[in-house]
Order: sequence, then structure tokens, then C-alpha cells
Amino acid sequence: MTIEQNINEIKATLPNGVKLVAVSKTFPASDIEEAYRCGQRAFGENRIQELNVKQPILPDDIEWHFIGSLQTNKIKYIAPYVSLIHSVDSARLLEAIDRQAEKCSRVIDVLFELHVAQEQSKHGWECDELLDYVLSGEAAKLKNVSLRGVMGMATFTDDTKRIRAEFRRIREVFDKLKNEALPQFDTVSMGMSGDYRIAIEEGSTLVRIGSSIFGSR
Ligand SMILES: *Cc1c(COP(=O)(O)O)cnc(C)c1O
Repeated sequence: MTIEQNINEIKATLPNGVKLVAVSKTFPASDIEEAYRCGQRAFGENRIQELNVKQPILPDDIEWHFIGSLQTNKIKYIAPYVSLIHSVDSARLLEAIDRQAEKCSRVIDVLFELHVAQEQSKHGWECDELLDYVLSGEAAKLKNVSLRGVMGMATFTDDTKRIRAEFRRIREVFDKLKNEALPQFDTVSMGMSGDYRIAIEEGSTLVRIGSSIFGSR
């Protein structure tokens, strides 16, 4: 199967309103070009250094999504062009993104990363912690970030009931924040190659798919 065939096959299964971000981390720019030629425009990367090598040599109309853990001192390298940062896991990081965005006269779209999986290695806010923070109104004061929604990863397991319950929890937190504080919320980023079908059933609006498009890493 080629990259083009993989993308077309996945796209055919996505309902209207679910966006595909092709996760190109570890894959060469030539693979991204192949996906680009069949119309794919949104790509996800999780390392600043790798993204900064690829971005200048690839077409300008690519939407770059940052999906990895982000250190505050590295934000400046992607702030001028990044399209959506999925991985905001603290108030401190959000404030630092806001400051770097202001320096480039931009408003950067961001998602709050939720920690719902069992693995402690995964990042993100505990659900109650995020609800308290957002409902406090502090986040809404920042002028150079646009709060678009939430992102999360399910536990790496074969237990589809657990995966489903974790995605459901992410969607619940999104709905609560949207209804009570952030009506502009429009993005629920959940679902990867192994679990995106369940994520869509539980209300994902954006899936991040790497290995099913580009091959195993
Ligand atoms: C690598 C990665 C993906 C894609 O995972 P696949 O299993 O290759 O589809 C999605 N989201 C995040 C945050 C990732 O780091």
C-alpha cells in the first residue's frame, strides 16, 4: 500500500466534520510530499528540532500541528508558523505560548491536553484540575492564544471498553467547558491509528494518524 492509498482509505471512513492530521514524526520530508500531492495539508510532529528542519523545505500552505511535549524555552522556534498546539499541559506553558505569540503578532490556536490514560508517563491535566483552571477565568484573559478544545490519548491496551470510557471522559470535559465557559470550543483531538474508530464513535472531531499512513516507526 502506498501513502496515497492509505490516506484515501482512511479518509473514506471519516465522517463529515472529522479532520485528519497525518502524523509524520520520524518520516522524511519526501513522505510528507507524497501525502501533500494527494491533497493532505495537516501534518503532526512531536519534536521541535525535527519540525524546524522539515518546515522550511516543505510547501508554505502546510498546516503544522504540534502534538508533543513542549518546553517553554522552545516555543519561540515554532510560534511564527505553528497552526495548532495540541499539548498544553500547564497554565505556565499556556502563558508562555501567549507571550511568544504576541511577539510574532499572532494568535495561536491551542488545545488542553487531558490525562485520562492509566500510564503515568502520559502528560496532561487531570480533568478536575483543568475544569477548575478554565472556570477560574484565568485562561480567557490571554489575548494571543485561542482556546479551541482538548486533546487526549487513551491507555495503550487491548481493552476496548477502557479505551472507550477514556475517550468518553475527554468528550465530557470538552462539553462541560464548552457549555460553561468556552462556547468557541470546536475541537476534540482524540484517536490514533489503533483506536481512532472508537474515538470517532465517542465524539472526536480530529484524529491524529501516523503509522496507518506512513508505516511503522
Ligand atoms: C505518534 C503520535 C500519534 C500517531 O500515532 P500512530 O499510532 O502512529 O497513529 C498520535 N498522537 C500523538 C500525540 C503521537 O505522539
